Amino acid sequence: MQDTYQLRKRVLVTGGAGFLGSHLCERLLDKGYDVICLDNFFTGTKDNVAHLLSNPYFELLRHDITWPLYVEVDEIYNLACPASPIHYQWDPVQTTKTSVHGAINMLGLAKRLKAKILQASTSEVYGDPDVHPQPESYWGRVNPIGPRSCYDEGKRCAETLFFDYHRQNDLRIKVARIFNTFGPRMHPNDGRVVSNFIIQALKGEDITIYGDGSQTRSFCYVDDLIDGLIALMESSDDVVGPVNLGNPREMSIKALAEHVVNEIGGSSKLVYKDLPMDDPKQRQPDIGLAQKLLDWNPQVSFEEGIQRTAAYFRDKRN
Ligand code: NAD
Ligand code: UDP
Repeated sequence: MQDTYQLRKRVLVTGGAGFLGSHLCERLLDKGYDVICLDNFFTGTKDNVAHLLSNPYFELLRHDITWPLYVEVDEIYNLACPASPIHYQWDPVQTTKTSVHGAINMLGLAKRLKAKILQASTSEVYGDPDVHPQPESYWGRVNPIGPRSCYDEGKRCAETLFFDYHRQNDLRIKVARIFNTFGPRMHPNDGRVVSNFIIQALKGEDITIYGDGSQTRSFCYVDDLIDGLIALMESSDDVVGPVNLGNPREMSIKALAEHVVNEIGGSSKLVYKDLPMDDPKQRQPDIGLAQKLLDWNPQVSFEEGIQRTAAYFRDKRN
């Protein structure tokens, strides 16, 4: 007898109750997959996935990936890891453990299951780059002993583990290097620049620019990023990455602040604070590889993304 359950792809999303993870779970359910959302709720919340709980093909599992896990799935998206500097520096040893022990546990699970596994890596593997824009072939410029190192080096080591499991065990891997992404369900207190500026503008508070605001970032809207992650996971097995995913439109942090104030209105003033140590001076993805291999291009303009994100935070306040 045909078991209909077996017809659905079973997918594990670690960090599934976080900002990116919750959007990914939603999209995978829309595609008709059976989704296990795993999270230890360090930075993610049940609220982010509460609207999915009534779906019979969605399962929420409280677990910390630094401990082994036994479930049966076909694909694993490994997103679990605090992503904002404030959060990942709060318990830096746990951050490294999450990236390194967590990767070993998830890779071990994938090996046992012969499952395909995708790692949410980061542009932080390039550190404070002296090559601009950053292609995947650039090895980066990372301080191994600074306050950002727990995250940067943890993610670099996770990439190493992914490629060693691939070479040693023929594991099917996918490594995405994600650049700054923003959108609804960003944690309001995680200190990331887009959410900080929008929330400050909505409250009429000063907009806190760190340094002189000349440092640059390139901001990708969450829906585009999720498209890219799924396209990478579903690409042919010879596409292992690393593949940059991000929006190449680069801007200074000062320009971002001015845009947000203009968009939201109000009386906020720009104020200047100390620049955190090792803050990268410039960041822009070279997305040529993603365009070629995945036929992927960001679709949502920065302006549209800011409007949607501002609408989300406005609703949350009411
Ligand atoms: P987030 O903090 O919202 O989500 C991370 C999730 O992982 C949270 O739900 C958190 O509770 C969970 N988590 C943390 N440690 C865990 C552990 N040990 N076991 C189980 N769950 C754990 O951050 P995000 O922005 O959604 O980022 C998701 C992933 O994407 C992260 O791996 C991050 O490094 C990567 N990434 C994000 C961005 C971005 O701009 N958002 C950029 C580059 C890379
Ligand atoms: N930033 C800022 N004001 C804030 C928060 C961040 O000027 O209130 C700056 C931060 O110093 C960095 C950039 O914005 O140069 C992006 O910071 P974020 O923490 O969002 O991401 P990351 O530094 O990891 O790219």
